[in-house]
Amino acid sequence: MRPTGKLHLGNYMGALKNWVELQDKYECYFFIADWHALTTDYADPSQIAPNTVEVMLDYLAAGLDPERSVLFLQSRVLQHAELALLLGMSTPLGWLERVPSYKEMQENLANKDLTTYGFLGYPVLMAADILLYQADFVPVGQDQQAHVELTREVARRFNSFYKPPVHSPEDMIGRWEGREVLPEPKVLLTPSPKLPGTDGRKMSKSYGNTIFISDPEPVLRQKLKTMVTDPARIRRTDKGDPDKCPVGDLHKVFSTPETMAKVYAGCRSAGIGCIECKGWAADGLVNVLAPIQERRANLTEAKAISILEEGSRRAAVRAQKTMVEVREAMQMTLTTVAPAPTAL
Ligand code: SF4
Repeated sequence: MRPTGKLHLGNYMGALKNWVELQDKYECYFFIADWHALTTDYADPSQIAPNTVEVMLDYLAAGLDPERSVLFLQSRVLQHAELALLLGMSTPLGWLERVPSYKEMQENLANKDLTTYGFLGYPVLMAADILLYQADFVPVGQDQQAHVELTREVARRFNSFYKPPVHSPEDMIGRWEGREVLPEPKVLLTPSPKLPGTDGRKMSKSYGNTIFISDPEPVLRQKLKTMVTDPARIRRTDKGDPDKCPVGDLHKVFSTPETMAKVYAGCRSAGIGCIECKGWAADGLVNVLAPIQERRANLTEAKAISILEEGSRRAAVRAQKTMVEVREAMQMTLTTVAPAPTAL
């Protein structure tokens, strides 16, 4: 995730919650992408460091566990920059220009000049982030699949030019078996339920419609009170439909089946008011967020930073292993030069 500050419910349900569960099944690497933040915030990087700490606190509070996963900061693992540079050499410009989010973000962030080399190249950096760990899977929601596909293409092109180095007969067998320096990662599609913001649009910081996972209960209840509802329910006596209401979408994610049944029956018959219904939605949210907030209250910024530093050290060790292979495959190493004759 990019360090854009405290994480909101959309970040939690669309990614973080899934990541916490993946830790039981996989060896996982999760990082905070501070160099990616620079691609859009290069003119004022003052918030990147404080936001990094906030994101890390949310990671830990949500249940990412430094004992089971590697949690690290992108800029502390310099191999990300090296691999991005090397991959950039063989990535055609046209691939980057046609990434859908390239034009989209330039339009959405019209107040920033994004006609930069760094912004055009961010998919290459993203490919490096993934390929550096020779990852089998990348957990993403449906809307992120295109990025993984581009990473696969970048890897395929790299592998077509550069073959794994051969040091032993086993390496030769590996070559015949098609072993590659940068294996193409697969998408691990994770559920990302529809989660509207308080104005009914997709929850996003740029819309100012977010509910943060660290919002205290009174703030959270107040935000829900202002949330838009089914436009058909103008008066209390008007019937509505939870399937057309952003509050209904929240219920689907956070409320129990019993509450859901009450919401459907009460809304469709005008038997309940929206204020009451929003109160139930807030109850569901509080139930999910209370343990996360409790864990966050017991964490300190110093602890978050030290976990990030330690995780970055571990990530760098793994990254270096890949880079040794990459450098050898690309013959960017003096060991390929014939050794000088030894003096008698
Ligand atoms: S009763 Fe609930 S689901 Fe129905 S319109 Fe009001 S807030 Fe939405």
